[in-house]
Amino acid sequence: MTTTDLPVVPHWVDGARLTPAGSATAPVFDPARGVATRRVGLADADLVDRAVRSAAAAFPAWRDTSIAKRQAVLFRFRELLAGRKDELARIITAEHGKVLSDAAGEIQRGLEVVELATGFPHLVKGEFSENVSTGIDVYSFKQPLGVVGIVSPFNFPAMVPMWFFPVAIAAGNAVVLKPSEKDPSAAVWMAELWQEAGLPDGVFTVVHGDRAAVDGLLAHPDVASISFVGSTPVARHVYETAARHGKRVQALGGAKNHMLVLPDADLDLAADQAVNAGFGSAGERCMAISVVLAVEPVADELVAKVRERIEGLRVGDGTRGPDMGPLVTGEHRDRVASYIDVAAADGAKVVVDGRDVRPDGDADGFWLGPTLLDDVPTTSRAYTEEIFGPVLCVVRVKSFDEGVALINAGELGNGTAVFTADGGAARRFQNEVEVGMIGVNVPIPVPVAYYSFGGWKQSLFGDARAYGPQAFDFFTRAKAVTSRWLDPATHGGVDLGFPRNDG
Ligand code: NAD
Repeated sequence: MTTTDLPVVPHWVDGARLTPAGSATAPVFDPARGVATRRVGLADADLVDRAVRSAAAAFPAWRDTSIAKRQAVLFRFRELLAGRKDELARIITAEHGKVLSDAAGEIQRGLEVVELATGFPHLVKGEFSENVSTGIDVYSFKQPLGVVGIVSPFNFPAMVPMWFFPVAIAAGNAVVLKPSEKDPSAAVWMAELWQEAGLPDGVFTVVHGDRAAVDGLLAHPDVASISFVGSTPVARHVYETAARHGKRVQALGGAKNHMLVLPDADLDLAADQAVNAGFGSAGERCMAISVVLAVEPVADELVAKVRERIEGLRVGDGTRGPDMGPLVTGEHRDRVASYIDVAAADGAKVVVDGRDVRPDGDADGFWLGPTLLDDVPTTSRAYTEEIFGPVLCVVRVKSFDEGVALINAGELGNGTAVFTADGGAARRFQNEVEVGMIGVNVPIPVPVAYYSFGGWKQSLFGDARAYGPQAFDFFTRAKAVTSRWLDPATHGGVDLGFPRNDG
């Protein structure tokens, strides 16, 4: 079979699969075998326009659907997803490569947001003040925005879209999702699930594509907002372009997360967690730990413990139950691996070289084993750039202050963690670091659904974080009504003065 004969992952428009003849496509790989298994359609501006118009047409009826009926659809979606998550996990593993248990984990974290959204009636309530002036009441209420765009990255094909769409839909919006073209099938599967849950056609739309599809959404006059997650340069482009087109926008960018290990820390716990957070999902997590800052004199001992644990890790095809799967594409694997030479040339010690891995999987898979680099100079690109793969850098520092200064010198401020037995040091750490999400003896501090998620600095453009309370504000806009029902006794007659409340 040539790649042109491969099945095409369809768009989802008007509640139906759509595969326009003759349109451009891109290959989708099984990373554990290193072969293309499908192709995905790449939407052009016309197809994006068709998708947005379908969503815009579905919006008014959905907005006016009662809260109780919208809630019932959300509960059905939640039940269907919880019951069939193994099916979705297999789809994720087949295109992303992460191990099945990890795919199930991301669905579980997405489900949390669906569950949060089922409680939306309480979170979109308005306010009422009686008699702000004699006979005058003021009240506010929140309405949905209209058509909202979501653009998601490859690393969480189910969870990241679920950071946004449950709340957006609950609040009465119509969603157009542009998932990553590297693992597009999960989005279509979730669209079909929404339909089964009773969501009207057009309220959840999926268009696949690359930059052209994203730019089509950013410029479309009927798209009210953009929720983007991806690398920092693209997040900046999305933020600036969407804002220029008058849209509300939240754009979450890249990460370079540091874990500070103080000399009083439980080093076994720290080593376990550095390995879990460094190599889980092959390091392709925005909350992965990519730098361990080891405060002397414990660096030698810590590096030895991390190395020992890495040697016990099994790398292989995610369906066979290993600890770590392949990387998402061959190109990405090569880019990540190139940092090993960069770091070595800059003077780092290559303690474990992931290029030597012997995986339990097809030889053509996109493999790179866990890699440990010690004494990485902070001037090296291996330290300054986001690698987004299974490469853990150790930087040795002399003090808490030196470690915090390094964390704060970075341009990215997504997540960080401190490992210590000293509550005072932990408290100082959480106070001083310029980072949005902080773990204390917890390496991947992804907040639960009822706290919003987002980093500082160039890890988040815009002022609204994902899910949690901020999502209900992002996906609605408020109206304030000042109301007087006249009766002859309170009629004030002609008065050109500015309205005041002290009457
Ligand atoms: P990416 O920036 O390459 O792609 C993200 C999305 O943008 C995809 O849908 C892609 O099709 C689209 N895109 C790519 N280039 C574009 C361009 N020039 N113009 C417009 N759209 C474009 O990111 P990725 O490789 O899919 O994902 C990994 C990145 O995402 C990492 O940097 C990671 O840190 C980041 N990420 C951040 C968070 C967070 O919460 N901050 C969460 C997950 C991933």
